[in-house]
Amino acid sequence: MIWLMISLLLTGTVVLTVCVVFCTVKLKSNPLETYVRRVLSCAVGVTLFNVSAMLIPFERMSLAIFSLYNIFETLTLMSLVSFAKHYIGKSDGLGALRLPLFVASGLDAVLLVLNPFLKILFNVETLSDDFDNKFMRTCDYTAFYTYHTVLIAFMAFLVLAMMLHKMVRSPRAYAIKYSSLFISICGLGVFSFMHLYLGFKFDYSIAFYAFEGFLVFYFSLIYVPRGLMDRLMFFTVANMKDGIICVDIDGNVVHANTAAVDFCAADTSVNTLEDQLKLWKQDEIKDETSIHIWETTRRFGKEMHYFTIEYRLIYDSMIKSLGYFFLIHDKTEEFVKYENEKYRATHDQLTGLYNKEYFYDVVENMLRENNDEEYNIIVTDVKNFKIVNDVFGVSKGDELLIKIADITRKFGGSYCVYARLTGDRFALCIPRSRYNEEALLACYSSVDAFIENSSFKTHIHIGVYRVTDRSLKVSVMCDHAMLAIRTIKDSFRNRVAYYKTELRESFIGDHRIISEFETGINHKHFRPYIQPQISVNGCIRGGEVLVRWFHPVDGMIRPDKFIKILEQTGLISRLDRYMWELACAQLKKWGDMGYKKSYLSVNISQKDFYLLDVYNVITTLIYKYGIDPSRLHLEVTESAIMDDPTNHLQLIARLRKRGFIVEIDDFGSGYSSLNMLKDLDADVLKIDMGFLQNTTNPAKSTTILKMIISLAKSLDMQVITEGVEKLEQVEFLTRFGCDVFQGFYFAKPMPVEEFEAQYLNKRFRMK
Ligand code: C2E
Ligand code: CA
Ligand code: CA
Repeated sequence: MIWLMISLLLTGTVVLTVCVVFCTVKLKSNPLETYVRRVLSCAVGVTLFNVSAMLIPFERMSLAIFSLYNIFETLTLMSLVSFAKHYIGKSDGLGALRLPLFVASGLDAVLLVLNPFLKILFNVETLSDDFDNKFMRTCDYTAFYTYHTVLIAFMAFLVLAMMLHKMVRSPRAYAIKYSSLFISICGLGVFSFMHLYLGFKFDYSIAFYAFEGFLVFYFSLIYVPRGLMDRLMFFTVANMKDGIICVDIDGNVVHANTAAVDFCAADTSVNTLEDQLKLWKQDEIKDETSIHIWETTRRFGKEMHYFTIEYRLIYDSMIKSLGYFFLIHDKTEEFVKYENEKYRATHDQLTGLYNKEYFYDVVENMLRENNDEEYNIIVTDVKNFKIVNDVFGVSKGDELLIKIADITRKFGGSYCVYARLTGDRFALCIPRSRYNEEALLACYSSVDAFIENSSFKTHIHIGVYRVTDRSLKVSVMCDHAMLAIRTIKDSFRNRVAYYKTELRESFIGDHRIISEFETGINHKHFRPYIQPQISVNGCIRGGEVLVRWFHPVDGMIRPDKFIKILEQTGLISRLDRYMWELACAQLKKWGDMGYKKSYLSVNISQKDFYLLDVYNVITTLIYKYGIDPSRLHLEVTESAIMDDPTNHLQLIARLRKRGFIVEIDDFGSGYSSLNMLKDLDADVLKIDMGFLQNTTNPAKSTTILKMIISLAKSLDMQVITEGVEKLEQVEFLTRFGCDVFQGFYFAKPMPVEEFEAQYLNKRFRMK
């Protein structure tokens, strides 16, 4: 009999230990885990010590272990109280009971520790069971033992009260969680009572500790009330954003949530859910496979919604079909987001045209797929677009770009691919059969009048590459069209240029210039030529320094062949510094020769303003050579000034203040406005006859020339006219009040020695 009892207890211990391990390994994240583990560990102590005490035949030792058993009994109940509080949702631990319980239990423990020596709670006796097996049990209970029993009973009642409270308040589904604990504690109490007061041989209540521990473990950590999951699923499905239609094996709709009903109602041609299913079965579910997914749209009021519909068979655990369901997922938000992202990645934000990358992709596909069609790649570029931004404002610049985009869209129609490449550059790919230069020009020339300003016109240059080599990348084709534009970049008359292979060669020439420039400078291949400047009375005091490149292979190269590329690459500032220094050295030499009033005029490129500290470089030079700043004339083009008027006008003012003579070069070539003249505080206005003579109406340009000169005079500026080729020009310019001339009529640019010998400080016979 005793062995049956012991096997029962040991089994309980093993089960509890397994539960403790399970808690530690698997359920660590559960907030109740610590409390459950405490109860279980104490219960293990209770059963183990009880078994040991019963089996040990030595009185004193058995007595000691029975004491331990009782201590663990108190601990188990304490941890049960603390567990129960957390279990019912009160997380303040033992709360106000903490101190009294600790004191009472501490006292209980002290008494129990003394018991093996003093026997102040109980004694032990040896008994035999029905099969004459000996075992130990406690006896001779004193008042102190009653104290222990009352303490245990008090804590048990606390737990019972908490469980009862919860049982009454919780929904029925949860009642079992609390009632099972309630009942097991009652059992524990009843069996303890039977053992203590009715003289039962065995204390069966011990088994209840193990049982109790297991219930605590199971109901607090494992058990999920029946029906809870079903209800939860039901609510989840009912409130899901996605529609669900569940159908049984006979095709009857078992359940459809609100989203699914709304989805079907949005289609007026579908009256019932069954109608909808019939349609889907007929159109979408053509074979017996267990999954089908397709996409569809529905209109809700004015809004179009995009859906993915998923059809799935439902199987039971034996893999037999139970029915099927449809999942209706509204992906409008994702779809719109995806479409927006795709749009942003492929389109230009400002104009709404394709962006460069997308254009390249689409054109590449188009060329690949239409092998027998011929194409042209067109690139457009706005002349002086920067000026529009700087002078008329960025919003005006944007407006212009939008207008060009509209023109491109209109011209491109449905048979072209078109895009904004970058900044002011647009591109089109057009079937050659549709290409018509006149129509193209007519479209884009409507931009000319975009800015309502008489002196500045927006002007579009067009480069065309006839696609002959399809193996080229589209970006290279666009580069070819751009290269064609470079040939007409400075022209107002030519608007369209076609790419030719020679262009590429000249482009390669550009590379040669760049790579050979450094050697040129180091070997003094760049030399100054001087073109004399003659005042109205024929006196020659100086001239303009113009560079010539004496190339060891190609011979003398004129600046128009290399200045532009040096400007593009920034190498110009290196050349200009070099030329300015040569000019200063020359002026020093002339000064030493006694020509102290002679001067030289040097060119300052637009790029120098950005690449050099112009003021610093020039003042250092005149200091180095000890020359008077008024002998160095500085030629700055008006477009260089207008590139950044605020800063450049300030710089000019500083240079003039220092004593330099500043000349506005090439006046009349750019977007000169007479109105702007008043802001250009300079000493000399240099007018290029060439620019004015190129117009269709020479009489009109002479009038303009006259006006410019008189305006300059009224602004206290000297006037130099360059490009003077004929005597009659000299005559009317003299009449208009021009002060100085420069041009082939007098002399071409020449080597320094020739200038010194023939012109320096000489007089020119005007006729
Ligand atoms: P620019 O400053 O306007 O120089 C005047 C150009 O007009 C010179 O051309 C000169 O030879 C040319 N020219 C002079 N008189 C006449 C004429 O009666 N008829 C015609 N048709 N042309 C005439 P060049 O020397 O070829 O210089 C071209 C441009 O290269 C210059 O134009 C200037 O912008 C630039 N350049 C020349 N040397 C330098 C330099 O050292 N630095 C910089 N930054 N630019 C330079
Ligand atoms: Ca010049
Ligand atoms: Ca000039």
